[in-house]
Amino acid sequence: MARHVVNAKVLLVEDSEAQGNRVRGSLERMGYSVLWARSGVEGLKLARAESPDVILLDVVMADIDGFSVCRWLKMHADTRDIPIIMLTVKGEVEYRIEGLNVGANDYLPKPFADGELEARVFAALRVRTAQAELKERNQQLEAMLHRVEALAITDPLTGLFNRRRFTDVLKREFALTKRYGNPLSCLMIDLDHFKQINDAHGHEAGDQVLKEVAHIIASNCREVDLPTRYGGEEFVVLLPHTPKPNAGVLANRLAKTIKTAVIRVDQTELHLTASFGVASTADVTSNVAEELVRAADAAMFRAKREGRDRVALYVPEDDTPLPEGLDEAEH
Ligand code: GH3
Ligand code: MG
Ligand code: MG
Ligand code: MG
Repeated sequence: MARHVVNAKVLLVEDSEAQGNRVRGSLERMGYSVLWARSGVEGLKLARAESPDVILLDVVMADIDGFSVCRWLKMHADTRDIPIIMLTVKGEVEYRIEGLNVGANDYLPKPFADGELEARVFAALRVRTAQAELKERNQQLEAMLHRVEALAITDPLTGLFNRRRFTDVLKREFALTKRYGNPLSCLMIDLDHFKQINDAHGHEAGDQVLKEVAHIIASNCREVDLPTRYGGEEFVVLLPHTPKPNAGVLANRLAKTIKTAVIRVDQTELHLTASFGVASTADVTSNVAEELVRAADAAMFRAKREGRDRVALYVPEDDTPLPEGLDEAEH
């Protein structure tokens, strides 16, 4: 009847030499490997050092009683999950209750037959295996949840944050700014004549360019900044704790880096420029977070109008509508 779990390690905590010898002999015949602690203290030490699969714990011992040992093992994270079978003397009902109260999983009334010992140890090991499987499954689910959460806030092409994430963070940062008065800036970035790249080299080449530009933007940002793909070839960066002039410095650095970058697609070397609009919360009088983005966008359109490949810091005149028939995209 080979019902033992292969290689399972049993810790026997038993201070009686005669009982210990007998139980160890039985367990070894069943195929378990046995560690024998002859006192409560030694039992605690071995439980921590050896991580046994199950513990057989005598109640009455000279140094610390089995209940205290059990309580201690259940309190510590690295021994908490090890099933404990208390070895009680038959008839002592209150011992069994006490054992279960301090967290023992089962008890074995002395004297016991080999068959009962085997059945209880086997049952405890089954619990142990089920627990381990559950733990692993939970870890897998948690990892999956993390991946799903990451996907939900990420733009798949560029790996930057997506617009949904941007909207959430903008709301929070804007509220913080209004409350504590720290500056918050926003960069709006639109690639110049991007359609021509698609038209001349194909959509895939265009995608490659978007990825490289995204990389340039992300690698020039700080940990707390929020580089985002806002639309097709539009990017936006939210810059907490950053006043407008400092945001302007970043915009100019990005403009220069993008302009000097050589993007290789197949055998072709591509060059491009971008137009930037910069606004900060000092430009927004209302309590509407989206106004910050709108201001950055208005400034970006002026950068386009004034010839592209440049940075425009928002001024209130940027809100003035253009005269009829003057579409900035045509310039
Ligand atoms: P402007 O300097 O005025 O911004 O000119 P533009 O050509 O960049 O602007 P327009 O808005 O006319 O065109 C944007 C183009 O971006 C149109 C579209 O083909 C391209 N585009 C948008 N999303 C993607 C994308 O995901 N991949 C690629 N390859 N192209 C895209
Ligand atoms: Mg004893
Ligand atoms: Mg555009
Ligand atoms: Mg464009």
